Amino acid sequence: MTHSNSIKNSKLKGIHASSGISFGRAFIMTNEELEIPKITINKVVLQNEINRFEGILDKTRSEIISLRNDVAKNLGESEAEIFDAHLLVLEDQALISETIKEVKDTLFNIEFCFHKVCQRYIDFFSSMEDEYLRERVVDIKDVSRRVLSNLMGQVRSELCKWLKNRILVAQDLVPSMALELQKSNVLAFVTELGTSTSHSSIMARTMEIPAVVGCVGVTQKVHLDDYIIVDADEGMVIVNPSENTLSEYREIQKKRNIIQQRFDSSVGQPLKTLDGKRLHLMSNVESVEDISRVNKVNADGIGLYRTETLFLKHRTFPSEETQFNEYRKVVECLEEGAVIIRTLDLGGDKTLDGNKSFHDEINPFLGFRAIRFCLKNQPIFKEQLRAILRASAYGKIKLMYPMISGVDELIKTNKLLDEIKKELLSESIPFDEKIPIGVMVEIPSLVFSIDILAPHCDFFSIGSNDLIQYLFAIDRGNEMVADLYQPTHPSLLRVLKQIIDSAKKHHKEIGICGEIGGDPLFSSLLFGMGIDYLSMSSSRLSEVRYLVQHLLLEDAKKLSETVLKMNDAREIMDCLKTFYSKKMGKVFENS
Ligand code: PEP
Ligand code: MG
Repeated sequence: MTHSNSIKNSKLKGIHASSGISFGRAFIMTNEELEIPKITINKVVLQNEINRFEGILDKTRSEIISLRNDVAKNLGESEAEIFDAHLLVLEDQALISETIKEVKDTLFNIEFCFHKVCQRYIDFFSSMEDEYLRERVVDIKDVSRRVLSNLMGQVRSELCKWLKNRILVAQDLVPSMALELQKSNVLAFVTELGTSTSHSSIMARTMEIPAVVGCVGVTQKVHLDDYIIVDADEGMVIVNPSENTLSEYREIQKKRNIIQQRFDSSVGQPLKTLDGKRLHLMSNVESVEDISRVNKVNADGIGLYRTETLFLKHRTFPSEETQFNEYRKVVECLEEGAVIIRTLDLGGDKTLDGNKSFHDEINPFLGFRAIRFCLKNQPIFKEQLRAILRASAYGKIKLMYPMISGVDELIKTNKLLDEIKKELLSESIPFDEKIPIGVMVEIPSLVFSIDILAPHCDFFSIGSNDLIQYLFAIDRGNEMVADLYQPTHPSLLRVLKQIIDSAKKHHKEIGICGEIGGDPLFSSLLFGMGIDYLSMSSSRLSEVRYLVQHLLLEDAKKLSETVLKMNDAREIMDCLKTFYSKKMGKVFENS
């Protein structure tokens, strides 16, 4: 059943986040600070919904009273009075009965109705002349956030059930939320916010879920149960398509499946160029669940294992033992090559909700993130390093540090690692004493310090997502500046060439694990520049492998020389597209 205000056969344009086409009914999550689902409930469970609400009100009341007592004890009675005001809001009978009435009248879920009623109160008090009454808005917001967050704690566990065979339409998806999707059999997702290098987009590619992001207005224009097509390849959403549009898209899907099968046929063939050069393609993973895909596409190993995902899953800092078990499983399940384990890259948009180790920051991407966080939270970091070292006794592991901005951080981190190695030796715990150390090149300052860092590490890996973000001063998650994300910008190409040349000059292996490493338009260029390996989500690997098998490395070198002399990002992009079509033209014939 579609909504009476539903639009028909309308196209909404967003940003391509991952590949695929999906057809299905929409499930909506609106978002203020929390993502609030809107679900129609059955009349039979109406009373359950009301009981659930009352239970959560009791729980919230106990929380506020306990907070009040703590504050009164530690800071004094007058400081604690704020919580009395919160209790008054929480116990406000009008607010409670209006919410229950809203649920009964609309048959929408309790979180949605409670949020709606609170919003009405907030609007009402905000428009008051009286300053005292206007200030009550802050109390209502605070209490509503607390109640909703408790309700949402229950919702998260239910979410998987609701999303099964649905297309999720949301304001935004924080990485911890995107993770929940893997278990849910969701068909696709579409968000208002985000860009192709937001962490949720990267996760969608790894989990092979079709996704469109930065689709402005989608939560307003699409309603619960609307039938939609998500053409993630084109970054397009079609709402309530006509029969003609539907059959057109079924045809497109068939053709794309044929092409994918052609790419997949490359997997059993050797990874060599037409002129016989063996090139290396690796996979990026987020968890042990991704390893079967890595084995399936026959990658040369794992070029980036983002360990923070484990922390996001646990919503806290997992113990050394939990981490060790996960890292050991990853390395033992991998059939080919080594695993590059990247140490914790929390911070930025990846924080543990409500954890005291993280604070609100005005510029989180320029703030307390990755190695900066780790060096200031050494007990947490040491547990991770111990877990990784212990796992290195069970398979080939390399260690990689994110967000290094200069040699001091590298030396400090290595020193910590040495201390832990000594500890393990004294405890007679086995590990790889020669574990290779890698540095991510993702902060522009490193471009000019490769020579200074080289004596202290074994390899480098270019994190182009952050490198582009910091080089051009564009927030990688902000769709408003997504058009400035130009990976063919001449400055970036010069920077890439300089990093590759400096690493080679100092006899260090150099790879790339940012998203352009998996973009087939860039593969020939990067190999032509002299990169040693590309690392990408497994979903992209068979296309790049097919390309390598149809490439002369000599041509790739000439391509790199040509584009490095060009001045215009669009011209360079056209040149890469033409090169790609020449090499790959055949694959698209008769599909
Ligand atoms: C990068 O910045 O390119 C990278 C690979 O790391 P992440 O996307 O996890 O920040
Ligand atoms: Mg990065």
